[in-house]
Amino acid sequence: MVTGPASTEIAAAPVAPGNSARIERETHKLEKRLCRLMGQAVIDYNMIGEGDRVMVCVSGGKDSYAMLDILLKLRARAPVHFDLIAVNLDQKQPGFPEDVLPRYLRALGVPFHIENQDTYSIVKRVIPEGKTMCSLCSRLRRGILYRVADELGATRIALGHHRDDILQTFFLNMFFGGKLKGMPPKLVSDDGRHVVIRPLALVAERDLARWAAQRQFPIIPCTLCGSQTNLQRKQVGQMLRDWEKQYPGRIESMFTALQNVVPSHLMDGTRYDFSGLTASGVPSPDGDLAFDTEEFGASAMAPVQVVRFDA
Ligand code: SF4
Repeated sequence: MVTGPASTEIAAAPVAPGNSARIERETHKLEKRLCRLMGQAVIDYNMIGEGDRVMVCVSGGKDSYAMLDILLKLRARAPVHFDLIAVNLDQKQPGFPEDVLPRYLRALGVPFHIENQDTYSIVKRVIPEGKTMCSLCSRLRRGILYRVADELGATRIALGHHRDDILQTFFLNMFFGGKLKGMPPKLVSDDGRHVVIRPLALVAERDLARWAAQRQFPIIPCTLCGSQTNLQRKQVGQMLRDWEKQYPGRIESMFTALQNVVPSHLMDGTRYDFSGLTASGVPSPDGDLAFDTEEFGASAMAPVQVVRFDA
């Protein structure tokens, strides 16, 4: 696994029976939405520029296949020129079907590199039986990918995390880390030398599942290592899906909130100068709400009004 948590909980919604014209229309709409959201993320966060060489990390999961697929479509119509090179890290997990990705990438006509590194044996040797292996495994993977990016002359490293991964991470950090912290759409790598981007940052996982089913990507299961994938992440994912079911629109509202931070209404004195705050004598156009509790319509639990990206 190269690009992070590939959830198995979200199954592709079955394509509703109907005439082929309708299915084609729905597929076309989905493709447009995926391209639009990826394009928006690339522009909003200035992810890719003229002359960039983007190393696309492909694990064999639905998200990274979709990322590569949509990046190829975007590149064909982008106003700037950039290169893509797909990279898979074969960690030598037992049963990893090593022919699947090369065959797929060759057929696609994309330049690619398979990096063979037996991190599986290292992790097995170091981590006691029954303990989760993911943190060491990820650390090793990260180091290898940075080295490969150097060797390939990549100026961007693209990972396949999506909107739901970002939200899950946000809640995990809040519940278990005591931090308001998500997963950035763009960051500088730990070694300070690479720019890591998440072009799927605005895309919903359910859309990626539908796209993967539509495109029939040759999915490689992410459980080959036999490790328990992060149980807490699974639970938070389920919590979010349950909320969304009960209060449709909640996920989008929360995701919009991540892009609308109001430091003056939080409590972090390092982000907002509370101690230096004095009366300015100038009324605030929004009011201060100092003595009010905020109202959210007839019922605070009713579906919220949000801007839908896929409207
Ligand atoms: S141990 Fe397995 S599940 Fe965990 S990060 Fe590594 S490959 Fe993924």
